[in-house]
Amino acid sequence: MKNSKLLEVARKFGTPSYVYDTTKIKSQYNRLRKSFRQVNKLEIFYAVKALSNISVLKYIHTLGAGIDTVSIQEVRLGIKAGYPPEKIIYTPNGVSIDEVNKVSKLGVRINIDNLNLLEQFGNLYPKTSVCVRINPHVMAGGNNKISVGHIDSKFGISIHQIPLLLRIINNTNIKVNGIHMHTGSDILDIDVFVRATEILFQTALKFKDLEFIDFGSGFKVPYSRTDSETNVEELGIKLSKRFNQFCKDYGKELTLAFEPGKFLVSEAGFFLCSVNSIKQTTSTVFAQVDSGFNHFIRPMMYGSNHYIENISNPNDSKRFYSVVGYICETDTFASNRRISKISEGDVLSFNNAGAYCFSMASNYNSRYKPTEVLYINNKLIEIRKRETIEDLIKNQIELDFDKL
Ligand SMILES: *Cc1c(COP(=O)(O)O)cnc(C)c1O
Repeated sequence: MKNSKLLEVARKFGTPSYVYDTTKIKSQYNRLRKSFRQVNKLEIFYAVKALSNISVLKYIHTLGAGIDTVSIQEVRLGIKAGYPPEKIIYTPNGVSIDEVNKVSKLGVRINIDNLNLLEQFGNLYPKTSVCVRINPHVMAGGNNKISVGHIDSKFGISIHQIPLLLRIINNTNIKVNGIHMHTGSDILDIDVFVRATEILFQTALKFKDLEFIDFGSGFKVPYSRTDSETNVEELGIKLSKRFNQFCKDYGKELTLAFEPGKFLVSEAGFFLCSVNSIKQTTSTVFAQVDSGFNHFIRPMMYGSNHYIENISNPNDSKRFYSVVGYICETDTFASNRRISKISEGDVLSFNNAGAYCFSMASNYNSRYKPTEVLYINNKLIEIRKRETIEDLIKNQIELDFDKL
């Protein structure tokens, strides 16, 4: 997005604000589809947890995608956004059979990653179709918090437990129509990814009723012009060929599915905040902004390095700043970052603010959450109002201690 448009957002809707450029979401979606054009049946399920504003969900629905959900609430949001149940995959981890039960009644596709749960579910609904999440035990992912496919991960059913899995399927008569893996975020090495898919292909041969294979996600997106990213085009060529071969061996044309979150929305998002003050200490120049990890936690939680630009004054001489928030804890967005000279009142723009940004925002320090704005057809449209004090106390019950 152009700086002038971003400044317009700050002017019209104030800061802190998130802006999402629909053109980028669409081009990423089309890029993934095009990379896998050799596969006849391809389905893309957007991972709702990355960014769950209902207008974003509705927009992604217009592109033709389905959604991947991890909670019953995300399923309900998806239904509200207009997704038909068959376009919704529910991939929970560590939830109760009660929740799985309720979701199953909504008619969505269930993906089970726990043998115990599978057995309970199979006993309740024999002959139902489910997908099973397999853990291929391949080490992948950018950091430990987002790497979920390794040997001691809590996710998925271990490939070493396949015999047990098959026994449960036999005993309960449940039908496995899909197998799934999701090894984690930020996969750079395509061969590592392909190795994991190979394990899934081997496993798939043991299931007779498959309709689809779901390779989850893990596409890494670039955080700057020089940063690396998953080469989805190369992956598309390699994996499509292997997938088509697999279908021949299996004797049936299956659907290939992916569940990208970050890939679709990360680069589409910008986070805008204003500089409250400049504080010079003996060692550092701090730019203190009207936000903190309550609104944007990725740098503090994952150590992610978001490109920051001073869009109010982009072409001045560069200086070193530590960009920090107003939370009463250390909330450093960036240390010693070269940014065009910053003055009080300037608006800073953070890149890659579409995925796992607003969806992780909180009201910590009793601050209002940021506004969200959609950029579509050259129009800026607010899709989340700024909160008020009423929102903070909405569900609180205020006691009258004189009467107790
Ligand atoms: C989080 C998640 C995704 C999306 O991961 P990204 O790295 O955002 O693409 C896909 N599938 C499952 C099961 C997930 O939990």
